[in-house]
Amino acid sequence: MNHASAFARAVDLPQTMPAALLRGVKGKCPRCGEAKLFRAYLKPIDACPACGQDWTPQCADDFPAYISILVSGHLMAPVIVGLVLAPALPAWLAGAIIVAFALVLTVGLLQPAKGAVIAGQWWLGMHGFKPDRLKTSVSQT
Ligand SMILES: [Zn+2]
Repeated sequence: MNHASAFARAVDLPQTMPAALLRGVKGKCPRCGEAKLFRAYLKPIDACPACGQDWTPQCADDFPAYISILVSGHLMAPVIVGLVLAPALPAWLAGAIIVAFALVLTVGLLQPAKGAVIAGQWWLGMHGFKPDRLKTSVSQT
């Protein structure tokens, strides 16, 4: 038995792409769901200590930032409209709240977005990742 097969037997592979993406969003290894995917806020680990998956082929680039901005914008739009239309709120206070909200949301969504992007790349076998899925015909609900 080689080292890779010892890892493969114990791994709880995700059954669907959304399951893999959810693991990435949570900052967990998309392959096994056990170990952390990041060693710093936006710095992924080189290899999973639990399942041995090599994460160095990941190439998220700017895509997590696009996702973060897109989601933040949609969440902030009603807040901005509400604050701007509030008659009792001074403009400087509305601006300060909007900027603070935007900073917290965009920065806070970066790591989950990057985890999802890495998980998606792994699931789809992009950038040198080898597709690693269950071979069974498990129904996907
Ligand atoms: Zn793992």
